[in-house]
Amino acid sequence: MLYCKKFYEHQFVSLTKYIRNKYNWSVICLTGEIDRADFEDRIVYINSRCHPETRFYTLLHEYGHVDILERDSSELQLSVPCYQSFHEKRCDRSKSGKIATIVEEIEAWKRGCLLAIDMDWHINIKKYEKNMNEALWGYIEWAGGRD
Ligand SMILES: [Zn+2]
Repeated sequence: MLYCKKFYEHQFVSLTKYIRNKYNWSVICLTGEIDRADFEDRIVYINSRCHPETRFYTLLHEYGHVDILERDSSELQLSVPCYQSFHEKRCDRSKSGKIATIVEEIEAWKRGCLLAIDMDWHINIKKYEKNMNEALWGYIEWAGGRD
């Protein structure tokens, strides 16, 4: 099996459909857009400039955020104390707010990976990890900074 661009584009479409069917969220790819899940509009934005494989991993991660929000953030709230207040007030820049942000980021990457395994979608685990590490490191630097 050759994991070409088309292969990941196909998986991306499958994941988009999955997110729509399960949670009624849309996925929009735009040039230069910041990757994110918009909780008010129920839209996941993905930067279309990235390579299809990277785009697929990013969408898996954003799915993780949607899944946390739509399904069972109560599990996170129970097991991670600082996540309780974060769930109600997402823009908290206190120490516990920052830690809660990182907790959710890690959880979202985890859920994306588990979904891919469940659905039998192919991911290159080394590349997935690299994307995850890059993204998490950005949050860790943000959390360590003073603002
Ligand atoms: Zn994220």
